[in-house]
Amino acid sequence: MNLILLGPPGAGKGTQAKILTKKFAIPQISTGDILRSAVKEQTAMGLKAKSYMDSGALVPDDVVVGIVKDRLAQPDCANGFVLDGFPRTVAQADALKQMLAGLGKLIEHVLSIEVDKEDLLGRITGRRTCRSCGRGYHVAFDPPNVAGKCDECGGELYQRDDDREDTMRNRLAVYEEQTAPLIAYYKQESLLRSIKGVGSIEEIQRSILNIIEGCSV
Ligand code: AMP
Repeated sequence: MNLILLGPPGAGKGTQAKILTKKFAIPQISTGDILRSAVKEQTAMGLKAKSYMDSGALVPDDVVVGIVKDRLAQPDCANGFVLDGFPRTVAQADALKQMLAGLGKLIEHVLSIEVDKEDLLGRITGRRTCRSCGRGYHVAFDPPNVAGKCDECGGELYQRDDDREDTMRNRLAVYEEQTAPLIAYYKQESLLRSIKGVGSIEEIQRSILNIIEGCSV
């Protein structure tokens, strides 16, 4: 099952992708996670990406296309994958189409998670991330058992630089300008499936499952 999760920052793509990976035993390919780990490890790619990420801008297409190309060639993608946060521009979508054609694969569904702009700001600025394992939390909607500590690994929770309000506003503007056109792009390809991104994590997951295989959680 080859899926794309599309939606603005804060729509819940990462959370939903993680549930899908467990349910279908397919990997989540999050360009944001891969870039963050490159920044943490201070690789050449990480050093190049950091300033874009800190300001809420998009990392250049050639960098992320290269990441996804390498990742899709890994054996664990043989039975499918969930792309989370890629593609984010029409050029990336075109590159993906070409890449998949070369691998003899097709995207089955593009799941577009729709959330009002006003809701997104509150969701993102309350978001916390584990420094060790990357698990996400929300101070109000999905708090950890012990404040500031990850339930899974005990790691320290922190607020990503790009989750702060000023950066978030920029990320939303970038989304509208560069990523939202992908909704029309995939509609034209008859791949777009729209989901209301409001309600509980389980409700949203149920909407996704109804679409992808007519089953429920
Ligand atoms: P995310 O965790 O998906 O919100 O990504 C965090 C940041 O990483 C974004 O604000 C961008 O700076 C960068 N990034 C992640 N995925 C992409 C992509 N497909 N294209 C360009 N930049 C990306």
